[in-house]
Amino acid sequence: MPAPRDQLAVVVLGGGTVGAQVVRLLEEQSDDLAARVGARLVVTGVGVRDLAKPRPGIRPELLSDDPAALLDTGPDLVIELMGGIEPARELIMRALKGGASVITANKALIATEGAALHAAALEAGVDLYYEAAVAGAIPLLRPLRESLAGDRIRKVLGIVNGTTNYILTQMEATGASFDEALAAAQALGYAEADPTSDVEGLDAAAKAAILASLAFHTRVTLEDVSVEGITSVDADDVAAAREMGFDIKLLAVADLVESGGAPGVCVRVHPTLVPRTHPLAGVRDAFNAVFVEADAAGQVMFYGRGAGGAPTASAVLGDIVTAARNRLTGSTGPGESSYAMLPVLPLDAAPTAYFVHLRVVDQPGVLATVAGAFADHGASIRSMTQKGEGDQAELMILTHPGREAELAATVTSLRTLPSVDEVLGVMRVIGEGR
Ligand code: NAP
Repeated sequence: MPAPRDQLAVVVLGGGTVGAQVVRLLEEQSDDLAARVGARLVVTGVGVRDLAKPRPGIRPELLSDDPAALLDTGPDLVIELMGGIEPARELIMRALKGGASVITANKALIATEGAALHAAALEAGVDLYYEAAVAGAIPLLRPLRESLAGDRIRKVLGIVNGTTNYILTQMEATGASFDEALAAAQALGYAEADPTSDVEGLDAAAKAAILASLAFHTRVTLEDVSVEGITSVDADDVAAAREMGFDIKLLAVADLVESGGAPGVCVRVHPTLVPRTHPLAGVRDAFNAVFVEADAAGQVMFYGRGAGGAPTASAVLGDIVTAARNRLTGSTGPGESSYAMLPVLPLDAAPTAYFVHLRVVDQPGVLATVAGAFADHGASIRSMTQKGEGDQAELMILTHPGREAELAATVTSLRTLPSVDEVLGVMRVIGEGR
């Protein structure tokens, strides 16, 4: 048992949206936190880039533009809220090796360098926590890592990017184009000036990698995740989906799958048709929600604010309290669990149902020709709806779950049919529409 301590030194790296809120809460709730932890948490420094920036709520004497020097003061806890890979990675490594426990909200770093960071924490006998890295305020990683640790998780499925959910909700509610909805998200501060990481699905993919690693006790990195963003979703796709009883959501999906008689995991991010009756369809605007399906627990859903300074700071504070308590008792929380080492399988390993939207020539025999193209490639049709009058019609086709390769071959073949004017859209589907 370590010698009793009446205070712990905390260095915060980053004084931006989240960092400023963490420092504010640490100071405003200092007495309560001291009582909960058993020692006072004293902020001894805040690392930033630009000392001249106004930072209400952060005492100027705490600020430093030399984060490495702050680590040399020997803090007990280092809270990394700078973002990006470097210098965050190097600073976290240095903090861990120096014997500090580290809390970070940096999903990109955990999804690419998680194994090395966990190994460094294990070797130093300190904690590495990152609850805020996925779904902001929503307690999700700790339930996966601890509460559900005795169960077998089969699937993790959810909306983990608030920006894209806001954009898709706007498109659905107002008929706006992608560009118009993106501009609205930017005006409200839900999307960054450079929205690439959100709209191309990369932010969600990093979170999917972290969720899959914890759920399946397997090391999954960002590179293992198949990613498709929402930039090609247009107002017509949203309207067609709606007509079939679906909303379009950007989902992160991680499945435990059987391939060749052996288990593996398949992790992907893509726009998905979700039945309007499904609880995920009710997750609107910038909210996040994640479904977990486990053998014994059945379905469990987590819902709440996935971003924002204060919500994210709440998750960071939870980690700070846990790591501080561990520090006082000389213990550490659970580290990386990758004992299962399941193979990470390609997209094709998880059979998926599809929605195919076609513009066709309205003449006898077209339906049979189109159905034949599906049958030729082993893709099985669940329903086919026709609308439109005159020379042209639209066909909206839902398939039964099948392989990506079968669908791709079907679409290639549909494009060559004289009766098919245009393949208007192809999207993955979960559940049943109307
Ligand atoms: P932010 O507002 O851009 O703040 C970043 C802070 O880090 C700034 O204070 C910046 O200093 C400082 N910084 C950046 N590079 C630095 C360097 N090389 N040396 C010293 N200081 C440096 O970012 P944020 O939104 O707070 O996000 C922080 C982390 O939380 C990221 O990993 C992000 O992915 C994660 N996160 C954020 C949210 C959210 O809603 N914002 C939600 C979940 C997770 P200056 O102020 O001087 O520029």
